[in-house]
Order: sequence, then structure tokens, then C-alpha cells
Amino acid sequence: MDIEKIKQELKHYDGPEMNIMEVCGSHTEAVAKYGIPSLLSPKLHLLSGPGCPVCVTASSYIDRLIALSLEKNTCVVTFGDLIRVPGSRKSLSEAKGEGARVEMVYSPLDLLSLAQKEPETLFVFAAVGFETTTPVYAVLLEEIIERHVENIKLLTSIKTMPEVIDHLMANGAPIDAFLAPGHVSVVTGSRVYEKPALKYGIPFAVSGFKAEELLAALYGIVLHRGQGVVKNYYPSVVTENGNEKAKKAVEKYFQTSDAVWRGMGKVAGSGKLLREEYRKFDAGSEGLEKDEKLNPACRCDEVLMGKRKPGQCPLFGKVCSPAHPQGACMVSSEGSCFSYFVNKRKD
Ligand code: SF4
Repeated sequence: MDIEKIKQELKHYDGPEMNIMEVCGSHTEAVAKYGIPSLLSPKLHLLSGPGCPVCVTASSYIDRLIALSLEKNTCVVTFGDLIRVPGSRKSLSEAKGEGARVEMVYSPLDLLSLAQKEPETLFVFAAVGFETTTPVYAVLLEEIIERHVENIKLLTSIKTMPEVIDHLMANGAPIDAFLAPGHVSVVTGSRVYEKPALKYGIPFAVSGFKAEELLAALYGIVLHRGQGVVKNYYPSVVTENGNEKAKKAVEKYFQTSDAVWRGMGKVAGSGKLLREEYRKFDAGSEGLEKDEKLNPACRCDEVLMGKRKPGQCPLFGKVCSPAHPQGACMVSSEGSCFSYFVNKRKD
């Protein structure tokens, strides 16, 4: 069907109301950028999910990074967004202002040159992310081992999507369908959604990031309302089985573990930890289970589970803004609250 017809169908949809969760932070960004909600019938509601990696990082993980960054001859290395995520009391950026050593890199591989220049310093890399990023950490470990680098460790907070999707559904998230994440699915393959689709009798549509791709996937969801099916609307890069090479590299270095998701608690089997034989590269990632709010009124937990829209948080746009985030969802451009704030999104 051509895109104009799809737009008409979505705009004039008059069936039962549907809550459709976009699990991926990049989808949240794209949905806002293309004004997708304004193209939908009032009966179709888009909810942002827990697919922004920094948004779901527990406060105890940030606290541990801060503690490491204050140790002698130690430098914490991270991607840009994580530096502003609040821990239980402060962010890495605030700690840096107080004298902690924190460096930002664009790629984990930049870390190798930093470590080689300063062999007396221990560099701790904040290895945060989902299935998409984990293969990069496997490549980094490969390099560390091959080059005999001894002053790099990882503090991991690696999470996996299918388990948290199951957790959301099992805990009463009001979701009738999922826009399955595009980038994650490149690695995992679309087949991983078959189990939750069948278990909960809801459709999953794997989507790309262009407006037409999102609209086609949403139309697919509407067509398959109430059916436990997986449809792939991003076949140019997503296959049924995913990227076997990347999965094998991850399997070599990491094992499945439980993981604590910010605001959601521990989700069984939804994380990755370094395998025992590679644990000497770990900076203490186990047991980081505490998850405290910087501001008790922050509603990131409910936002991440699709139970509340960002604008329904009492702090949204008042004391919480991208310049002064009170919760992790307001930090990254992939975060729901950030996206709603900068795009003045109200739906
Ligand atoms: S608006 Fe701020 S305080 Fe409220 S849920 Fe979002 S990040 Fe948390």
C-alpha cells in the first residue's frame, strides 16, 4: 500500500483504542522529529518505553562510577550522555566539577589510546547499553587482550530487551502492541519477539527510523491488532536470526545475569556480566542493586513503563528540564522526558 493511503488509514482509524509502545530511544526521537502522533487517529496512543540506555541505569551504578573517579590514579571514561545522569546524590559531571577525573570518548576504542599514553592510570570504562552496543565491548576486550593492555577495566551495566518487554507485560503495563527496536533487532533478529508476542497475544512490528518506515510499521500493528505475531518492516537490515557473528562475540565474553533497571527494579535474566574467566577486567559491576531517586517526586519509573506520560510528572518543565535534569529520562536526546520537553510534545 502506498504511504498516502497508509496515512489516511492511520488518521481515520476508528477501532478500539490502542497503546503502542516504542521501546527504542531512537524511535522516541524519530517519532517526535517527524510529528508522528499528529498523523494518528486519537484512538492510537504512542508510549515511550525503556529503550534509552542511560535512562535505565540504576543510581548505584552512577554512584559506583563517581566513587571510582575519585580514587587515586583512576579515570572514569564514558559516552557523553551518561555524565549528566543523576546518581543518588549527584552526577558524574558534578563530581568532575569537584575534582574527580572523568573523560568522555566517542568510541570505546578511543580508550585504548588514552590507556597507552598513561600506563600508570587505571581507566574504567562505563560500559552501558543494550544488544547493539555489547558487541563493541566484545571487540574492545579482544583488543585489550591482544595488546596486553593492563590498565583498562569495564564497569558494566548491559541490558537486554526481550526480558524487560516480558517484565513490562507481566507487571501490568497498558500495552497493546510494540514497535520493536530497529537497532537492537539488527543484532538479535526479529525472532526474539515471537515468544512475548504469542504469550501476550499482541503484535510486534520491527521498524526503521524514517517517517515512512514508522508509519508502515504502525499500520502493520493496526492490521494485526490482538494477534500474537511478529512483522518485520525493516528487512533491509533486520533478519529473523540477527547477526550471528556479533552474538558469538558477545557470548565469548559475557554471560547472562539479572539486572537492575532504573525505577523498575531487578529483572531476571535481563543483563550481561563478564564471564568468570574475564572477570579481571571488571571494575566491580556485580551487586549494584540500590536504585534511589535524586528527587523523590521523579516519576521516571512510571514513564519508563508506559504508565505515565512525561508531562504528567509534577516536576516536568518546572524543576526538571534538560538543563537541570532530576531524573535520567530528561538527560539524553533518546530519553522520553527530554524528547517531550524539547519537542513540546503533549500527546
Ligand atoms: S520530568 Fe524529570 S523528574 Fe519527572 S519523570 Fe521525567 S526525568 Fe523524572
